[in-house]
Amino acid sequence: AIHPYVPGRSTTDDGGKAVKLSSNENPLGTSPAARAAYAAAATVLERYPDAGAPELREAIAARFGLDAARVIQGNGSDEVLHLAAGAFAGQGDEVIFVRYGFAVYEIAARRVGAVPVVAPDRDYATDVDAILACVTDRTRIVYVANPNNPTGTFAPREEIARLHAGLRPDILLVLDQAYAEYLDAADDDGGLDLAKTAANVLVTRTFSKIHGLASERIGWGYAHADVIAAMHRIRLPFNVTIGGQRAAIAALGDRDFVAHTREHNARWRAWFADEIGKLGNAGMRAVPSEANFVLVVFEGALTAEEAYKGLMAAGYIVRWLPGQGLSQGLRITIGTEEETRGVMAALRALAGQG
Ligand code: PLP
Repeated sequence: AIHPYVPGRSTTDDGGKAVKLSSNENPLGTSPAARAAYAAAATVLERYPDAGAPELREAIAARFGLDAARVIQGNGSDEVLHLAAGAFAGQGDEVIFVRYGFAVYEIAARRVGAVPVVAPDRDYATDVDAILACVTDRTRIVYVANPNNPTGTFAPREEIARLHAGLRPDILLVLDQAYAEYLDAADDDGGLDLAKTAANVLVTRTFSKIHGLASERIGWGYAHADVIAAMHRIRLPFNVTIGGQRAAIAALGDRDFVAHTREHNARWRAWFADEIGKLGNAGMRAVPSEANFVLVVFEGALTAEEAYKGLMAAGYIVRWLPGQGLSQGLRITIGTEEETRGVMAALRALAGQG
C-alpha cells in the first residue's frame, strides 16, 4: 500500500530500516554546539520559556542586521505562515499561491475560511505574471516559497521585486525562505531588504532545514511592526521551547556547520541532477533546484508511482505528492554521499539501466 506521509517515518512498508529522503532534513545532522546547548537546557525543564523569546529574536536580528522588535518567533515557520493567514485573511478572502506550492498555504487559507487560489506554474517554476493575473479585490495574501517546495525552483530578485511592485499595498506578500541558506550568496532574492522597508512583506525562515533542528520546531518571521503586532495578538504565549531556542541560538553561531552543509548539498545536488539527466532516455528529468532536494519528473515508461514503490522496496523513502496534483514526480532530498549514490543506483535499476 502507498502510505500517507508519516512524520519521522524511517521504516519501509514491510517494516525494514529505511533511508529517509522525504522531508528535506539535514543529512549531516545538527551543529555539535546546538546539541550541547539543547542538552544543557535539561537543567531548566521546570521553567516556562520567556513568552517573548527575546534572546532568540535578538540573536536572529544580530545575525541578519534586523530590528529585534520586528522578529516574530514561531513553532516552526509553519506557525508563522498560519499566523499570517489568521491575522490577515478571513471568510471569503482570497489567498494566492502557485500550483505545486508548499502544502501549508492551502491549509492555512482554509483554516481561516479563506478561498485558496492556485496560480499556474511555468514548467514547475514560479510565474509572477500568472500570480498577478490571479489578484482580485478579495485577495489578501500571496504566499511564495523561494526556493519553492516541492519544485526546488528559485525566482530571482528582480522577479520578486516585480511581484511586490504589482501588488496592492493592502495585500500581504509572504516570502517563505525555508531554503534560503542553500542558495549561493549571489542568489539572495532580496526578501529581507524588502521586508525592512515595505509595509506589506513578511519573510519567514526556519531552523528545521540547514540548521538541522526540525524536531524542535523553531522558525521566525520579519515584517513591518504593524504586521508583526497583528500576528503576536493571535500567537500562543509559549510557542517555542527553551531547549529549542537555545539550540537555535547556538546553531546561528556555528557558521562552519552551515557552510559545510551548503557545500555538501550543492555538490551532491549537482551530481544527482546530472545522473538523472543521463536517464533522459527513460523519460526522467530533474527540475533545476536551488534547495536541498530535487523534483524528478517521470515522463517515460516508468511512472513516478512505480518508482516510488520501487524505491520503498529498495529501502528509500522519498516523497510522492499525488494529493497536490503532482503524481508525475518524486521529490528526493539530497542525503549523505552514500544515501545519494544509493537512491540513484536504485532509480537506475528501476529504469532498467542498473
Ligand atoms: N516552508 C517551506 C517551503 C517548507 O518546505 C517547510 C518545511 O518543509 C516549511 C516552510 C516549514 O518548516 P518548519 O515549520 O519546520 O519551519
